[in-house]
Amino acid sequence: MFGRGLHGSIQTRRRFLQSAASPVALLLPGWKSFSQHEEEMKTERFDVIIVGGSYAGLAAGMGLGRALRRVLIVDSGLPANRFTPESHNFLTQDGQIPSEILKTAGEQVDRYPSVTRISSEVVGARRNGHSFSISLATGQVYEAYALVFATGIVDVIPSISGLAECWGKSVLHCPYCHGFEVRGVKTGILGNGDYAFEFGSLISNWTADLTIYTNGVSTLTREQTQKLRAHNIMVVEDAIEMFDHANGYIERIVFSNGSMTPVKAMYIRPAFRQHCELPGLLGCEMTDEGYIKVDGTQRTTIPGVYACGDSVTRIRTVANAVSTGTTTAITLNKDLIAQSF
Ligand SMILES: Cc1cc2nc3c(=O)[nH]c(=O)nc-3n(C[C@H](O)[C@H](O)[C@H](O)COP(=O)(O)OP(=O)(O)OC[C@H]3O[C@@H](n4cnc5c(N)ncnc54)[C@H](O)[C@@H]3O)c2cc1C
Repeated sequence: MFGRGLHGSIQTRRRFLQSAASPVALLLPGWKSFSQHEEEMKTERFDVIIVGGSYAGLAAGMGLGRALRRVLIVDSGLPANRFTPESHNFLTQDGQIPSEILKTAGEQVDRYPSVTRISSEVVGARRNGHSFSISLATGQVYEAYALVFATGIVDVIPSISGLAECWGKSVLHCPYCHGFEVRGVKTGILGNGDYAFEFGSLISNWTADLTIYTNGVSTLTREQTQKLRAHNIMVVEDAIEMFDHANGYIERIVFSNGSMTPVKAMYIRPAFRQHCELPGLLGCEMTDEGYIKVDGTQRTTIPGVYACGDSVTRIRTVANAVSTGTTTAITLNKDLIAQSF
């Protein structure tokens, strides 16, 4: 566990209830007996539980902490960009080590006394009438009036030797995050068909030395191939054996036919899955692409459940994760006020 201790508040409330308990149990309507409270306090209740405490989750946590909400953030410590040595294109943190950004963010969120952070995995979630309970891998159960999923996605890297080792260093997902650092160098795209065509036109903005590797028969149309050639982008269909690299920095592609070609950077757009299956199990609708479906202000299709960051959008940047996390806090706090005002 990190951040503030959880059990202080339970003990304080318990002492208060014990001192207030009189020998004759007279209860006003709406009040609960001490034993009822004791039973309830076995499960600690928050206003909001945020599952995932990386860029989106911490941004949501800060907004809700500043709105005086009692918030629990649970994070299992596996942010998507942990493979990359430098994060780019996020103001004030350009070129920073990703874990340093998260460390500073966590320290700033910890300044808000109503926010508690726990390092663990949420393995269960369910709806109990108007509230929700979650269970951790460690067995604890917590309740809240609202849930936020800021759980990100997991990239499914194709199983070609060397590719996973280079992921985030010289095998890249996004030119806006890393294109400037590899501008002008000998670059490849691993892909085929429409996706390779679109990616090829995009990456040609950053380098004139670009080749598309289809790793098998090309499914590009003749028109697409001609257009790529007109922009000096060649298409290579040879099957790839491995990516030869030094400490994750790619040096050459080795083909199954024994030939090789030097390359400094590769772009891929891997398949992905949701990092956490719980939104789907709770009944949240998913998009055709596999994202959690949200409205323009981060509400999912289940009332009381919100989602932000990579789990909801193709716009995959730290800046967007923080932005959608902040929007979640504003929407959620407004919804909680509306319930009681
Ligand atoms: C290799 C790579 C390099 C990148 N480089 C850049 C860059 O330079 N600049 C940029 O702007 N963007 C970059 N990105 C994109 C950026 O990393 C993401 O947009 C950002 O991390 C999304 O933040 P998030 O909070 O939505 O998800 P994540 O950062 O992925 O965090 C999700 C968190 O939820 C936790 N979690 C998941 N399930 C559970 C559960 N059941 N219980 C508890 N916790 C859970 C995970 O452990 C994780 O900590 C990069 C991405 C990758 C893959």
